[in-house]
Parts: sequence; structure tokens; C-alpha cells
Amino acid sequence: MIILTLNAGSSSLKFNLIEMTNETTLADGIAERIGLPEGFVRWTIQGEKGRVEQDMKDHKDALQIIMDELSKTALKGRDVGGVGHRVAHGGSHFGDPMLITPKVLDEIEELSALAPLHNPANVLGIKTAMEIFPGKPQVAVFDTAFHSTIPDYAYTYGLPHEVCKKHGIRRYGFHGTSHRYVAEHTAVLLGKPLDSLKIITCHLGNGSSITAVDRGKSIDTSMGLTPVEGVIMGTRSGTIDPGAIIMLMEKEKLDAKALNTMLNKQSGLQGVSGFSSDCRDIEDSMATNDHSRLTFELLCYGIVKYIGSYAAAMDGIDAITFTAGIGENSPGVRACVCGRIKNLLGIQLDEEANASRSKENRLISKPSSRTAVCVIPTNEELMIARYTAKLVY
Ligand code: ADP
Repeated sequence: MIILTLNAGSSSLKFNLIEMTNETTLADGIAERIGLPEGFVRWTIQGEKGRVEQDMKDHKDALQIIMDELSKTALKGRDVGGVGHRVAHGGSHFGDPMLITPKVLDEIEELSALAPLHNPANVLGIKTAMEIFPGKPQVAVFDTAFHSTIPDYAYTYGLPHEVCKKHGIRRYGFHGTSHRYVAEHTAVLLGKPLDSLKIITCHLGNGSSITAVDRGKSIDTSMGLTPVEGVIMGTRSGTIDPGAIIMLMEKEKLDAKALNTMLNKQSGLQGVSGFSSDCRDIEDSMATNDHSRLTFELLCYGIVKYIGSYAAAMDGIDAITFTAGIGENSPGVRACVCGRIKNLLGIQLDEEANASRSKENRLISKPSSRTAVCVIPTNEELMIARYTAKLVY
């Protein structure tokens, strides 16, 4: 069976076509600048890269271009068995992946209040796929789902109870599909059952989150009500004193929209360095640029503090796993983080393994290390496809 996974943004649509019999990716790509001038779709199909420059008025146009291309190549003569959608926010009531019914779609739409940047785009992706594949099963996989096991004392904010209840204000967490995937693969790599391990998973990409996975269950995570909480990210601030927001409102006369832009688009690596949201640029220039040095140290120090607090939350840990763009590709960030907690957690990094450019799941600590350190490339699309296949058949 072939599963199509879709991840819709407000002006983009990412897709993956996965053959489930051997779990291989037949095609992947993205339509960008949907509804804007200079739109294009780029893809990789069976190792071959392709691209078409074409303006797309909406997501339906984009998916039509993608399907036209796939039906000539990767899908030739075959059909999609089901469509899996990445959905950012499942609120308090969506834990497991769901077959999408009109009622489920309405509920996802209602959750837009909690994720105004993400859920409306995800709904658009679902509606588009329903039009292009009428009658075909569609499945929603929620970014928040893995975190539904977080206990109340870890998801509650110290605000008045009634106001939080009224608006659904609490920690939800994100990147759940990724944290679950890498935790499961860490257990396989270590040759131990997942339910015997305490793992801290560090998903460090443009957006970053860190999760405490206690015997297979998320018990705390760094992102909160929204994906802006936690460590500093590409352009998001991460955790700051809420008093700073009040001060910005008063002194800079910023309203909710301007604050949202500042916290989500102008902060993090971009804001602190003053020139780039890309960790590679920061690392390349930190020997000569003091802003880059500060940005790098702020990032690593933030990760270290989460690891320390989650090691306390789980009363000890067995493994730390790095994933996503920075986690998979930056030996510098991994070495800095592990160096700062080597005595606390008895970490002995294998420097050669850490420096390796391998794309495989791998251990980067020595056998004598008390805490194992792993690098597991994430594969959220495969996870979404697995859930979809399970619900479709
Ligand atoms: P997203 O959260 O958008 O899915 P990714 O997980 O792909 O993002 O991560 C993208 C980020 O990964 C880039 O912005 C860059 O900072 C970082 N990155 C990629 N390669 C490297 C590298 N070799 N060294 C350091 N950082 C890297």
C-alpha cells in the first residue's frame, strides 16, 4: 500500500509518498509560495530532483500539480491507499491519530484558537485532499498527541485556574511524533525495551523542543501552550520572563500582533546574533563574532538546563538523544552540551563518532559512558504514514 503524507503550512504544502510494504520513500517535496507570486514546486522522485515554476492560487492548485507529477512517475499505474496529515494542535481531547470525519474536522478547526499559525493551514490541507481524493480515507496525526501523558503538575501554569480553564491555557507540547519516533529508535539502538528506559529527546531544528520520555511516555516537554516556549530557536525567543512582555507593551507600545511577530519571527538565533537564524552561520562565525559566540552559548546552556531538570524530573536517565537539523548535524552543539554535563551524568563522548557525518542511527558515547548519547535522524513522515496505514487497513 502507498500512503501520501501532507504537512500544510499557510503558503506551503510538504508531501511524502511512502511505500508501506518496505517503508521506503518513493517521492518527497514541497510546494512553496502558494497564493503568492513566484510559486514553485520541487521534489525528489526515486533520487531524481525536479522543479516546476508555477503560480498556484491555492492549496488545491498545488496538490493538483504534485499529483500530476506523481501519477506520471512514482505512482504510475498505482493508487494512494490513504492520506496522513500532520496536524499541529490536538488540544486536550485528541491523543491518538484519528480517521477524519466531518466532526473531527470541525473540532480541528475549533482548535485554531490554540494554534492560529498552524491549525487553519492544516485544515486547508485536509479539505484540499478531500476534494482531490474524494472518498479516500484521511488520517490526522497530532503534534501534541505524544504529550497527552504529561501529568497535571507538569502541564499547569501558575495562573488563576478559572481563566486557564476558560481558554484552554496549559502546556500541550509539540513535535510529539518526532519525540516518539526517536525514543522508540533509541531503545532499538540500545537493545533494551523502551519501557525500561528514561530518555531525554532533544529535537533541535528551526523549532526546537526537549522531552522527558519516562519508560516510553512523555512526562514533560519544553514547548508549552504554543511552540514559542522552551530553548531559543531559529527565530523564536523560547522562554522569557513574562514581565519582559509587559514591559515591551508599555515601553515599545507593541500590541498582540507586533509581539507575536517579535517573539516568533525576530528573536532566537536571529534576534540575538542580529544576522542569522541558521545555526551553521552562528557556528562558522563564533570565533570572530562575539554575538555569534553568545548566541551559541545561550543555545547550548538552555539545552543543558532542560536536560538537567528532566534528569531530576525522572530521578536519573539512561540516554540523551539528539535529532532534527541541528541535533543530527551539529557535532559542535552536541559536544558543547555533553561537555557541560559530563560529570553530572557520567557522559564520555566518543569524539570520532560525534564528528562523523553518518546519516544512520548511532551511539556517540563510549561504552563506558554512564549515560548513553545517541543521534537518531527523525522521520515524522514515516511515523504519520505508519499510523495512517494502521487506521486505513
Ligand atoms: P525544521 O524545524 O524547519 O524542520 P530542520 O530540522 O530541518 O528544521 O532544521 C533546520 C536547521 O538545522 C537549520 O536552520 C540549521 O540551523 C540547522 N542545521 C542544518 N545543518 C546543520 C549543520 N551541519 N550544523 C549546524 N546546524 C545545522
